[in-house]
Amino acid sequence: MSSPGSSPRKRLKLTRKTKKENEEENGPNKRAKIDPAEAKLEALKKENFMKACLQVSYEAYIDFKKRFQLIYFPACIDNKCIHHDKNAKIEQVTQSSEKYFNIEVKNKTWFEAIEVCLMCITSSQYLSSSMLMDIVEIIMNAHEDDNSGYSIEYVLRQCQHTLLYNFRMHPPCITKGIRDCYKQFLMSPLIKKENNLSNRACYDSQEGIVSYCISRLLYELSMESKDGTLLDKQEVPEDIQEEIQKIYWKKHTFELFEFLVRTERIERLMMVLECLIHLLQTDLALWHSRRFSTNGQTRSQRPLLAYVLWPINCLTDGAVTQQCHKIIELYAYFIHLSYG
Ligand SMILES: [Zn+2]
Repeated sequence: MSSPGSSPRKRLKLTRKTKKENEEENGPNKRAKIDPAEAKLEALKKENFMKACLQVSYEAYIDFKKRFQLIYFPACIDNKCIHHDKNAKIEQVTQSSEKYFNIEVKNKTWFEAIEVCLMCITSSQYLSSSMLMDIVEIIMNAHEDDNSGYSIEYVLRQCQHTLLYNFRMHPPCITKGIRDCYKQFLMSPLIKKENNLSNRACYDSQEGIVSYCISRLLYELSMESKDGTLLDKQEVPEDIQEEIQKIYWKKHTFELFEFLVRTERIERLMMVLECLIHLLQTDLALWHSRRFSTNGQTRSQRPLLAYVLWPINCLTDGAVTQQCHKIIELYAYFIHLSYG
């Protein structure tokens, strides 16, 4: 209860007056009386705080593993790079190995094809861009084959392992050959399927594997796609009479991404994207570490991610391109679906 004559407004006025009076009486005198030793201590505290902030920011910046969410720390960052040694001959796999791999791919003997790849990856040899792409094609298109002796899950895991193993042994280092190989792998148009049943051309397959996966995933997450297979199986043409030929025809015609069910299609795209993003993140960490150690002198070299997001020319770097829009759209879908 307020007593008569002491309304809140009046009380506020009185308080203000008292404060003003206090300032006039004590303010300037108090400031003048600050102890020099105390002032010095305050300045030192401020300086130490700024130093601590710089130290924390610096440590967070050079912690590339945490910053780029890397599974491992690329050896090329850690001054243990083997690619700069002129005596060490580090090259793409030999043509004969690639030929052997291609035979297995053509026969759709996926496990054997992957075994060839694993034998080819050594400290002095890395997979060619076309072999990397073929492994991605296996992940996207392979179907369960009861006669192979291996489950499809095992084959897919081996494919993913092979890609990551190659990236780990030979990260996208500054060496021209390796970087060109990865650039080609990420940016080359996807091969057109011989039987033409695939509709991959509708999903930016001409713009490289990252663009394709993003466009296709957007479609698969949308209402437009359907839960079952995207294509219906057809009858074997009448002119194919022999049983072996029929099996071969079915295998080559129906072993496609479009003949998988929706959950499987999304799963396969995510598997490929996981590997691709790992490669891009490693490259980004390498690029930042080089810029850091050379004081920004390597600025002219673009990270692989820049080719993916701004493929036309480096002048558009940073602009919100169609590719950036799609990534934001995907991100919104994932938040909405609580995917993780
Ligand atoms: Zn290196």
